[in-house]
Amino acid sequence: MKLFDLSGKVALVTGGNGGIGLGMAQGMAACGAAVVIAGRNEEKAQSALESLLAMRVRSVFMRADVTRKAECEALVANTLAEFGRLDILINNAGTAIRKMPQDYTEEEWRTVLDTNLTSAFFCSQAAYAPMQRQGAGKMINIGSMMSLFGAPYATPYASSKGGIVQMTRALATAWAKDNVQVNAVLPGWIDTDLTKRAREQVPGLHQRVQDRTPAGRWGIPSDLAGIAAFLASPASDFVTGTAIPVDGGFSIAT
Ligand code: NDP
Repeated sequence: MKLFDLSGKVALVTGGNGGIGLGMAQGMAACGAAVVIAGRNEEKAQSALESLLAMRVRSVFMRADVTRKAECEALVANTLAEFGRLDILINNAGTAIRKMPQDYTEEEWRTVLDTNLTSAFFCSQAAYAPMQRQGAGKMINIGSMMSLFGAPYATPYASSKGGIVQMTRALATAWAKDNVQVNAVLPGWIDTDLTKRAREQVPGLHQRVQDRTPAGRWGIPSDLAGIAAFLASPASDFVTGTAIPVDGGFSIAT
């Protein structure tokens, strides 16, 4: 179906070597996109890469620490060198440190903000020029339920994810004239390495999430495949600046 056809397109997914990023990478690969997955852990990346290559699309892993501006710029430059274009950027790399607000060190605060928010800005900045030259582009930023709600153990995380939504709106207004759409996705509770840590630390979390989610289950990374394909494709060309929950109804339930 042409509306969702991504053949000939090239996507770059930060943190695409596992979890939600890989689920989104697979969604775009299913529509024909070539995918660059970026992260730090090469071992994890190998199996991610194999799963994408098995879908018969071109795919490579690029090692990068996206908290460093120069590495964000190198990621975009290397994608252009390898594939000759960049059509889709998914700013997905993220981390969390769970503590009460009074207990964070300066380094912990900066680590979370740099990984979740500042990296997304630097990657977007780097991706803008090639997308503008090509006359089109799609940027997808990953927020969270913490873009909407507060929680006592998540001050830097919630700050970064609230920032993702406002950054998305600001970039969308700036770059709409270049035919670059910028949207955010707000996943609900998804079973990944990140939430495995939270479940280990917070007794009863698994059941509480399940009870509060109208769909009656946790999400899995492949639940994010469809929204990635939609926001990366021509089907969403008039959709920009939005923040779309993909949460089994978590955010609308009491
Ligand atoms: P994972 O821990 O599985 O994935 C996080 C990814 O980010 C990893 O692939 C990791 O790769 C990458 N990453 C982390 N730091 C860096 C860095 N400095 N440089 C490059 N890559 C980095 O967790 P999720 O899949 O759950 O999280 C993905 C995104 O979704 C995050 O932004 C998270 O906040 C968000 N999210 C997750 C939810 C959930 O319930 N799981 C809910 C809402 C939002 P590597 O280790 O190789 O560096």
